[in-house]
Parts: sequence; C-alpha cells; structure tokens
Amino acid sequence: MDDAEHLGSVDPWYDLNGNSPSSELRVSLLGTAVIPDVSAAGAPTMTIEGSCLCGSVKYEVHSDLSDSGNCHCSMCRKVHGAAFATYATVAPENFSWVSGKESVSFYEASPGACRMFCSSCGSILGGTDSGRVTSVTVGTIDGDPGTRPRSHIFVGSMAPWFQISDDLPQFDEWPPGDEWA
Ligand SMILES: [Zn+2]
Ligand SMILES: [Zn+2]
Repeated sequence: MDDAEHLGSVDPWYDLNGNSPSSELRVSLLGTAVIPDVSAAGAPTMTIEGSCLCGSVKYEVHSDLSDSGNCHCSMCRKVHGAAFATYATVAPENFSWVSGKESVSFYEASPGACRMFCSSCGSILGGTDSGRVTSVTVGTIDGDPGTRPRSHIFVGSMAPWFQISDDLPQFDEWPPGDEWA
C-alpha cells in the first residue's frame, strides 16, 4: 500500500509532521483538570463516544475534552505497549458506560488508581481514581475528540528508542500543579 493509503486512518488528533497545535489549543497548559460548566449553559456542549477494539465496550463523555496530553512514564508504556499514552481528563459525572461494562477489567497500577481495559480485546480505555473514571484514552475515542495533546509528561523516563518531534512543552514528571492520567 502506498503512503497516502496507509496514512488515511491516522487519528485526527495526532500530527505526523510534529507541527504544533493552533494557539487556542495551548492555553491554560498549567491548569488543573478542566471541569466543564454544565450549569451555565444548562446542558453539556457535546457527547464524545468511545469504544474498544472488539466493540463490546462503548462509553460516552458528555462534555468537551479540553485537557489531554502524552504520558511517557514506564507504566503507560507497558500497559499500552507503545512509546507513550495519550489521555484526556474527564469529570467523573460526565462519563458513562453505554455497553459492555461487565467486560471492563481494572488493574490497580498505583494505590487507588486503576487502568481500565477490555477483558476481551485488551484495549486500554482510561483510568480511575478512587473508583471514579477520571480519564479516557484518546486512542479509543471514535472520530475527532476535539482535543489535541498539550504537553508531554514524564519525559524524564521516556523510552530511549523514541524521539519527540513536536514542540509541545515537556515535563520530567507532572506539570506543576497538575495530576491527570
Ligand atoms: Zn474489546
Ligand atoms: Zn503515565
């Protein structure tokens, strides 16, 4: 297959050329998790759908996803089998399972924080904190999630075989004051 065909399925939130995202997507880099204000507008602004590889697990996020980034820590690399993982923060009250919740397994990688994955196909779906879903993996979102990664975190322990080719901000561990994923 030629390059154009091969690249036809690249997710819209990932830039192969390493170009930086537009300026409006880089605001409030150091902000904490954004909690959408659903009371002011009366209703969440959009519904984002996600699913696992085999399709048995489906979920929805009833808000915009404004906070996402790439984590290079050793745990994310292991659990994804990849150079890094891309997560988006969600407010627990905006997350809901649509189907297949009984197929979701939870692995407590850190005290009180679990990685969620499909027991059938292994797709990593996101993470929980104290039993509540606080992040989703951007790779399991169907369609354009409307968010672009804003930073690379835990770069201090990134894989030696990977090179970051964009100019997003990099942090050795957590960004100051921030703790998503
Ligand atoms: Zn699955
Ligand atoms: Zn990580």
